[in-house]
Amino acid sequence: MSKRCKACGRVFRPSPQVQHQAYCSASECQRERRKLWQQQKRQEDRHYRENDADHHKAWAAANPSYWKRYRQTHPDYAERNRSLQQNRNRQQPATGIANEDVSTPVSPLLSGRYRLSLVTQKGIANEDEWIVEISFVSTCCNDSGVLLQTEDVIGMSPGVG
Ligand SMILES: [Zn+2]
Repeated sequence: MSKRCKACGRVFRPSPQVQHQAYCSASECQRERRKLWQQQKRQEDRHYRENDADHHKAWAAANPSYWKRYRQTHPDYAERNRSLQQNRNRQQPATGIANEDVSTPVSPLLSGRYRLSLVTQKGIANEDEWIVEISFVSTCCNDSGVLLQTEDVIGMSPGVG
């Protein structure tokens, strides 16, 4: 089956390996083909990026208080973060809070199992304790200087009270 090249208009015999071959094998026709392909890709990319950005913008506008509400409805999440932060602070008195810019990476927590209990401003909110396993991964390469990757809740013991 012969075809007519979309670029130069000459009749050519498509290679059996290439599906829907529209250009002959002349180098300027192949260049033309690649140029058009790249233009199309850039176009698609732009549409994709714009859609993506619009989507996020729309979502954020529709959900302005998402994180605020999330923390309100998941007090354990917020408290747990705070407790972990307090642990970090305790381990690291010289450098202060963990997300302060420290020039030397340090390991604020040793890997191992930790007891975690819910602490609010009024004190111990409930006496349940969680045993969490924390593995030290790296202090490098993120904003806070701390990367806690594994944090598996492996069991809950009844409170002591
Ligand atoms: Zn051609």
